[in-house]
Amino acid sequence: MKILRGGTLIDGTGAPPIHDAAVAINDGRIESITTGGTSARDAEIIDVSGATILPGLIDCHDHVAFHGYELVRRWGLDEPASSRHLRTARVLSGLLAAGYTAVRDAGGLDAGFRSAIDEGLIVGPRLVVSLSIISPIGGIGDRVSPSGHTPASADPSLPSGVTEGIESVRNTVRTMVRAGADVIKCATTGGASSRAGHGPRDRAFNAEEMKALVDEAHGLGRRVMCHAVGGAGLRLAVEAGVDSIEHGCYLAEDPELLAMMAERGIFFVPTLTVYEYHRESPWAHVRERARALHAHHLESVRRAQALGVKVVAGTDAGGHSHPANALELRYLVEAGLSPMQALQAATGLAAECLGLERDIGTIEKGKQADLVVVDGDPLADIRVLEDARRIRLVMKGGITVPR
Ligand SMILES: [Zn+2]
Repeated sequence: MKILRGGTLIDGTGAPPIHDAAVAINDGRIESITTGGTSARDAEIIDVSGATILPGLIDCHDHVAFHGYELVRRWGLDEPASSRHLRTARVLSGLLAAGYTAVRDAGGLDAGFRSAIDEGLIVGPRLVVSLSIISPIGGIGDRVSPSGHTPASADPSLPSGVTEGIESVRNTVRTMVRAGADVIKCATTGGASSRAGHGPRDRAFNAEEMKALVDEAHGLGRRVMCHAVGGAGLRLAVEAGVDSIEHGCYLAEDPELLAMMAERGIFFVPTLTVYEYHRESPWAHVRERARALHAHHLESVRRAQALGVKVVAGTDAGGHSHPANALELRYLVEAGLSPMQALQAATGLAAECLGLERDIGTIEKGKQADLVVVDGDPLADIRVLEDARRIRLVMKGGITVPR
């Protein structure tokens, strides 16, 4: 038994903080939460006076294995797969040390990383992986250089997500699941960083293909996270019944969409962090798209929150921001969420988005002891979570992460 004593507990449910809390952990799970001094015999007492205890943070949209936007990096041409994988392992341990105990990967990370963490070969957050982005020819998952070339060799642990037509879409979903996907990632629009000619309001897939994709994924017990930024493709994704809209920058442009999301319980993962990055992109078309969508994006977050859509934290990190993924919380607060709402977006609500709320996301009796202890008060200044020097302790399943 371990007892964290003396800190202020924010449990991730949105409930007010509990001062002078004592969180008892037994066999990897939360056994009890009390206040004041406790003196259980045989317990290891960890004094966290003056600090804040939070649930382990969750990033709902990351690209852990993505190390840069330049073509040679994107396609993995500048180094052998071995050193790239080791680089990815280092990102994973950095994320865990920064307080991220669960991460949903939105494409590029193969299922071997999840099993390597489960086996203890490497350290890292709990992983929910999607493998490859599913999109049609010309969509964001279709890798093509400005010269029209495509990568020569494919990695069998990351099956191709390029697919057309109902039967092929269903087969591609099955192929992802066979290769170990926990969640299905697809795209119905371009994005800020996609090739010139396939932008944020340009559609990918048709209604029949998307219905087939969602039906097949749900039939196989997998949720669908859909990259959808604006225009007809955004409506297509909501109408098809995906489980989360990723980016959703132009959601507020179509007044019906957010209401439909609230009614159907579709999560909104705005990924504000990546657009802060793209606003300074070296590529003019990326910069222009990111700057053009900024005000719309903030409006979409505000309206979503007001309508009761569940807004959750995701950075779209990879090539930027690792391991300071808590940047997203700062941007959510700047967009109008209270610090408590931003914390929920990265803990309790994020766990719901991943379908893991029975086990993680909040500090409540019976849950996994995934938690982070930070020096300072994130309700007074959310940015304390970005500062690695302030992270005093991280625990995953009751095990203290070596620092
Ligand atoms: Zn992404």
